Amino acid sequence: RGESPKKWTMNNISVSKNTLKLMGLSYDWDREVTTCNPDYYRWTQWLFLKLYEHGLAYRKEAYVNWCPGCQTVLANEQVIGGKCWRCDSPVRKKALTQWFIKITEYAERLLKDIDKLEGWPERVKTLQRNWIGKSEGAEIDFEVEGMNLKLSVFTTRPDTLFGVTFITIAPEHPVVEKLIRGTKNEKKIREYIEQALLLTEIERTRMDREKTGIRTGRYAIHPFTGERIEIWIGDYVLVSYGTGIVMGVPAHDQRDFEFAKKHGIPIKVVIRPPDRDLNPEIMEEAYEEEGIMINSGIFSGLPSREGIKEITKYMEAKGIGRKKVTYRLRDWLVSRQRYWGAPIPMIHCERCGIVPVPYEDLPVLLPRKRKLTSHPGVNLLLHQSRSS
Ligand SMILES: [Zn+2]
Ligand SMILES: [Zn+2]
Repeated sequence: RGESPKKWTMNNISVSKNTLKLMGLSYDWDREVTTCNPDYYRWTQWLFLKLYEHGLAYRKEAYVNWCPGCQTVLANEQVIGGKCWRCDSPVRKKALTQWFIKITEYAERLLKDIDKLEGWPERVKTLQRNWIGKSEGAEIDFEVEGMNLKLSVFTTRPDTLFGVTFITIAPEHPVVEKLIRGTKNEKKIREYIEQALLLTEIERTRMDREKTGIRTGRYAIHPFTGERIEIWIGDYVLVSYGTGIVMGVPAHDQRDFEFAKKHGIPIKVVIRPPDRDLNPEIMEEAYEEEGIMINSGIFSGLPSREGIKEITKYMEAKGIGRKKVTYRLRDWLVSRQRYWGAPIPMIHCERCGIVPVPYEDLPVLLPRKRKLTSHPGVNLLLHQSRSS
C-alpha cells in the first residue's frame, strides 16, 4: 500500500492502546515493550549472538515457496493451487540458505522434563510428547549398484530388514540429483519432483492419502542378502525426518503394502504371527505386529523385539548400520525475507565470509529511509542488497 511498515505499526499500536484505555483497563504502561524498537531488539540480537557463539544458531539450505513473478518467498497459505495469490505465477520450490536455531539439541531434555510438570493436563503433556516425536530404531546403509554411493535409511523396525523390497527417497533429498542425472527417465522424474514439492508437508504425509512415487531405475544392494532393491522417489518421505530415506517392507507396513500392490513390487514375509502362517500371494493387508522372525538368515527364529537388538548389534559390528534415535522436532527457521523485523546481526563480508557483529555495535538497525515501490517483491530485494 506504499506506506512504511514502521508508520503502519506505530499507528496500529497507538490505536490499540487508546482502545484499551477507553475500555478502562488499567495496565501499568511503564512496563510496555515494543519489540520492533531498536532498544528492545538489540537484546534479541544479543541473544542471537550468544546462541551463535555456542553453535546453536547456524545456516543451512531449506526449501521455500518462490514466486518468480514477485521475486519473493511465499508462506504456504499464500500458495493457492500451486500459484501465487498475488500474481498467479506458478510457484516453485527454491533452496535458500537460512538461519536456524538448534532447538533439537534439547529434544531429549524437553521430553524428559515433561514428567516433572505438576498439575498439567495429561492431554497437553501428550501433545507435547507427540510434537517432540521421539523414535528409537536403527540407521542402515545400502550401497547403490554401480555407483560409489551409500544410502542410509532410518527404521524403527530393523527386525523386518530381510523383508525390504524397495527403498524410497524424499524428492528434495540432495542425493537425488546424483542418482537421476543421465538416467533414461530423468525428465519424467524431474517433473514428478517439481509437482511433489508443490504440496505441503502435511498434505504429503497424510495417512489417508495414497502414497505416490516414481522409479529411478537405480538399484540398491541389500546389506545381508545382496539382492537388488529398486530405488524410488516418493513424496510421502520428508527430507527432514530421519535420514530422508526409508525402506519399504510391504509385508509388514500397510502403506508399503498398498504401494507394492499398486506398482507390482514383490512382497516378502519375514515376521510370522504367533498363531498362523502368512502367504504373500493371498495377504490382503500387512502384518504390522510383533512375531517371530523368518526368512531372515541367522536371525530366523528370534522374537521381533530381540531381533531388533540382535540385528542392530550385528550391523554395528560390521559397520553397516547403527542404533539411532530421531525426533520429529525440527530446528527453528528464523530467517525472514522481510524488510521489517529485527535484522540478524551477522555481516556478510566478501573477504572473511559470515562474521558476527561485535556486541558493542548493537543494535543493527533496519534500513530507515528507502523508496517504497508499489511492487512488494521489489522492496524485499532492496532490503536484501542493502543488508548484505
Ligand atoms: Zn507472485
Ligand atoms: Zn571482513
